Amino acid sequence: MKHQEGLQDPKTKYYHQDYAKQRQPAPGLQSRMDPVPDCGEKSYEGHGRLSGRKILVTGADSGIGRAAAIAYAREGADLAINYLPEEEEDAKQVAALVQEAGRKVVCLPGDLSDEHFCKQLVEKTHQQLGGLDGLTLVAGKQTAVERFCDISTEQLKKTFEINVFSLFWVIQAAMPHLPAGATIVTTSSVQAYEPSPNLIDYASTKAAIVAFTQGLAKQVAAKGIRVNSVAPGPIWTALEITGGQPAEAIPKFGQSESILGRAGQPAELASTYVFLMSDESSYVTAQVYGVTGGILL
Ligand code: NAD
Ligand code: MG
Repeated sequence: MKHQEGLQDPKTKYYHQDYAKQRQPAPGLQSRMDPVPDCGEKSYEGHGRLSGRKILVTGADSGIGRAAAIAYAREGADLAINYLPEEEEDAKQVAALVQEAGRKVVCLPGDLSDEHFCKQLVEKTHQQLGGLDGLTLVAGKQTAVERFCDISTEQLKKTFEINVFSLFWVIQAAMPHLPAGATIVTTSSVQAYEPSPNLIDYASTKAAIVAFTQGLAKQVAAKGIRVNSVAPGPIWTALEITGGQPAEAIPKFGQSESILGRAGQPAELASTYVFLMSDESSYVTAQVYGVTGGILL
């Protein structure tokens, strides 16, 4: 991050007012949100920490994945970015920012709940970047449902396919390409540890991602590959205003959950993703890093 003179109070460093009520159909466009989430577009400053790396980022058009993608490019990595075709408008902005950072970007839209697509995504990334040494898997689906018995089988399947199955499909396809020193970062959630009663399917997928990350790390350590996860707390993103939270929870989103009294912005997660992708974290694997505003994991 750009270093500013003087200390900054974390309670007021980013947006800390009530949010306006707003709703979009999933997956939504963050460029139409009020306020637009801060993904570090104006603030993230790189220092060559991922110089020459070739990284696939899913969910890279918006929110946390976008913040990671911007930071990776400014740290010197070439990127393949994945998102849904409906999100092209947000993704174009990310692609332009990667190019402005002087890095290569390959745009590969498509649906991660499709096994065949996951495999193609990896092969195209490998071909078009001329290699692959990092995976940052951020895409996710979250749909709040008040009563457990009302969770439809369709929602249950989709949520598991996107949040959990796609990790198996993408990483299985990537494994033959990944050299020693490659790094994988998944995205779990505080929901794995402190599930909300209206997010039982989603929280179950996020707990699965913790076990997945730890088990896979044990298996691939012998190949010199590290696997870690980031567990975000309440972060202001399109996920939340497209059904991730009930509409009435949006104005005070994050205020009572976080001990800092506000929701986080995606920009506040970027340096954790960079650390876990870079070889600065060479002795860190099978770990879950919380960026939660103080909610305990
Ligand atoms: P976001 O809506 O900006 O990003 C989620 C992305 O997932 C979308 O942009 C979309 O590209 C992708 N996606 C969804 N369905 C897909 C599909 N079928 N195929 C391909 N891509 C698909 O929201 P975000 O909050 O930045 O979410 C990123 C990750 O962070 C998710 O895994 C989410 O579970 C996790 N997370 C978010 C919060 C939070 O408070 N926002 C908290 C904990 C964890
Ligand atoms: Mg999006």
